[in-house]
Formats: sequence, C-alpha cells, structure tokens
Amino acid sequence: MSDSFTGLTHIATCDLGGVCRGRAVPNSDSERWDREGTGWVPASIAMSPLGHIVEGNSFAAIGDLRLIPDPTTRCELPSIRNKPAVSLVLGDLVTTGGGEWHCSSRTFLRRAVSELADSTGLTLLAAFEHEFTLVDEEAPSSPLSLQSLRHVEPFGSDLVRCLALAGLQPEAWHPEYGSHQWEITVAPTDAAAAADRAILLREIVRFVADAHERHVTFAPVPDDGPVGNGVHVHLSLRNADGSSATFDPAAPGRLSALAESFAAGILEHASAITAITAPSPLSALRLRPGRWSAASADVGYQDRESMLRICPALDLPGSSPIDHLNIEYRAADATANPWLVMGVLIKAGLEGIRRELRINDPTRVAPPTDSSERSRSLALPASLRESLVALESDDIVLGWFPPELIATYLLVKQNEELETAGTSIEDLRLLYSRLY
Ligand code: GLU
Ligand code: MG
Repeated sequence: MSDSFTGLTHIATCDLGGVCRGRAVPNSDSERWDREGTGWVPASIAMSPLGHIVEGNSFAAIGDLRLIPDPTTRCELPSIRNKPAVSLVLGDLVTTGGGEWHCSSRTFLRRAVSELADSTGLTLLAAFEHEFTLVDEEAPSSPLSLQSLRHVEPFGSDLVRCLALAGLQPEAWHPEYGSHQWEITVAPTDAAAAADRAILLREIVRFVADAHERHVTFAPVPDDGPVGNGVHVHLSLRNADGSSATFDPAAPGRLSALAESFAAGILEHASAITAITAPSPLSALRLRPGRWSAASADVGYQDRESMLRICPALDLPGSSPIDHLNIEYRAADATANPWLVMGVLIKAGLEGIRRELRINDPTRVAPPTDSSERSRSLALPASLRESLVALESDDIVLGWFPPELIATYLLVKQNEELETAGTSIEDLRLLYSRLY
C-alpha cells in the first residue's frame, strides 16, 4: 500500500486564558475538514490556563460545537530541522447547524468591529507588537546588538522566514532590553486580522523555537529583571476610504478629536479592561513604574510609561506623518486572548466617541512645553484580584459581553487567582514561563 500521508493541519482556537488549542487533521481529506471542521466541547472555554476545566461553568459535560477553519488564517509552516511541516489555521466556533456561537471570542471581536463601522463609519488599522524571552540561553545578551542577533541564529532568520511564509508580514526583529528578551513586530492590518495574527505569531514563535530545541516564554514577568514581556496594540482609526481619522494637523499633538475620544473611552474603563488584557497573577507586576510598560491609566505623548502612548508622526522626507500617527495600548500581555483584547478596546473606544469624551489634561496629548514632571493619574490595579473586582463592578464593561461569556471568563480567572494565591513570585514566574 502506498503512503498517502501528506501532513497535518492543526485547526485551532484561542481560549479565554489566551491559550491556543485545537485538533490536527490529515491533509488528505482537506475538503471535508474545511467544510465540517472538527468537533468541539462548549465547556472547553472554561479551561483554566492551569490545565483543568473550571467547575461550576454553565456548560458542564453537555453540548457540541464545530470548529470550522477560516481559510484566510491558514499558515503553511515549513519543515525545520527534524520537525515536519504543518499547516496551522484558526477556526470559528459555531453550532452544529453552522450558526454563530454566542460565547465565541472571535465572534465577540467581529461584532465589535461591525458595531464600530455601523455606528461611526470607521475602521481600525492595528498591529500587535510582541516581546518574549529565550529562557534557556546562557551567554549574556546585549540589547539591540548584532552579536546577540547572530548568537541566536538560525532561530531568528527561521522565525522571520516562517512569519513571512505565513503571510504575517514581519517587520522588525531585535534583542530587547531584558535578559534574553526579544521583540518581533508585524505590519498593521484590519483589527480582526491583527488579533488573528497575534494568536498565530505566538504559535509560530513556539513552533520555530521547538524545532531549534529552545524554550521561549511570553510570560509577562519571566524573571527578576527590570522589565517584563509586553504586548503593545497599535491602533489607528481610519475612514471608510482608508484615510486616517487619527491625524489632525491642527490639533496640538496632531491627535484628532475622534482619536482623543477613543483614547478617553479606554481610560474611563482602564481598571476593568486590564482584567481582560493583562489577566494573569503575574501581569500586574509588569504594570509598575520604571518598567516601561504602563505605569498608570493615562495617555502620554510619546510616553512609554503611559497605558496609551501617542506614537510619533514621522516627518521624514518621503514618509507621511498622517499614516504613522497611532495610539499604542501598552497594558496587554500574552496571557490575554487577542480577540477579547481588541474587542474591549474597540468597545471602550466606541463609547468614548459616542459620548465625545475628552482627555482631562491637554498636556498629555501634546508635546510637553517644559521639562517638568507630568503628573501621573490613576494607578492601574495592583493585582489580578483587584482588576477582577474592577471588572465585576463595571456594569458598562460587563454589558459589552454576552452574559454567559463574561460569567465564564470571571469564573476561570477567579479560579486561577484562587489557585495561585499562596504561590511565591519565584514559583509563579516558573509556572507561567512554562504555561506561556
Ligand atoms: N518591555 C516593556 C513592556 O513590558 C516594553 C518596552 C518597549 O518596547 O517600549 O511593555
Ligand atoms: Mg519592546
């Protein structure tokens, strides 16, 4: 009998804990898998990052869903060293009749994108920027050096090659400030695709690392060094014709009133939002002053310690300041589900636009006129418990979600918080470096 095996396709989703889970199917019968997807259990969304389904979820052992691959997300990952090639594709969780499943976080984002477009005519151009740590490196690393870049070869070139092959449009790859810390950026795209790219990128980094027998982690605080691993979400509002709705040459920091309102909406719900965007027991440790992450719930003109940084508009010959100006949300990390992250940022921003909210302190959205310290406003929640309390008490944010989805989210995260409550920081770092 001839060998008809032509490789595997991994059909995956991202669970509420930001973990990518799925099933691999043989490529030989791809038409069937594309049409029918694979089976899925509703209670899987109550899977804790700690590895068990959290008791008390409303699905129990009952029900069936399908995970139907979305061909626009299909990535062909090549064979590297002794590991075979594999296809990776993200799927939509739907009912067995093909209808939308109300607890799908990808659907939550899709609806938020439609709501933004329907009520304002706007879209978002977005990109997730990721940092991660190569845990098993021994030689000291030197930020931004060619030496460190060469030291991890061929891992780095293989990673950029795989991201390009997968259609993720990699941009810059460099050794970051933390010990053995790396950063990889990809080109912006529409909001829904940007969140898909974030999920795929993390899996591709792990795929290449595995082939090179390296251990990577996206854990927000992987060691006792001065900085953590962040996920920054770049956001630029666009009009229906693709032109920038973020740039206004007449405004002091060139940030349009619309974009200012979008930012103000995010700040208004900052504490509750961190329960979605930085949701692990370690995440709040990263969101502290001095770590260049997001020290407070404010917006800052080119300020890397603000929750929202206004990124520069380039005035170089041949480049367009209009296209470059964007807002960077810095209080996310890779323990979050990117569909939920992008979804809540859109919902909050939309709320800011509807209510025409303003940033209270105009000195924060424009270049500072003197060098004196700008005051910092509200601190972000100091722990997962605090951010979950903030989420539970923010009826507006709770109202953005289908009730069963947010109830399950709270259940999973409260359980994770409870189960890790007595664990030392050192042990948490080890645990989350393994989990993420
Ligand atoms: N490592 C920082 C963080 O935790 C980000 C540093 C930077 O790229 O500005 O967000
Ligand atoms: Mg960085």
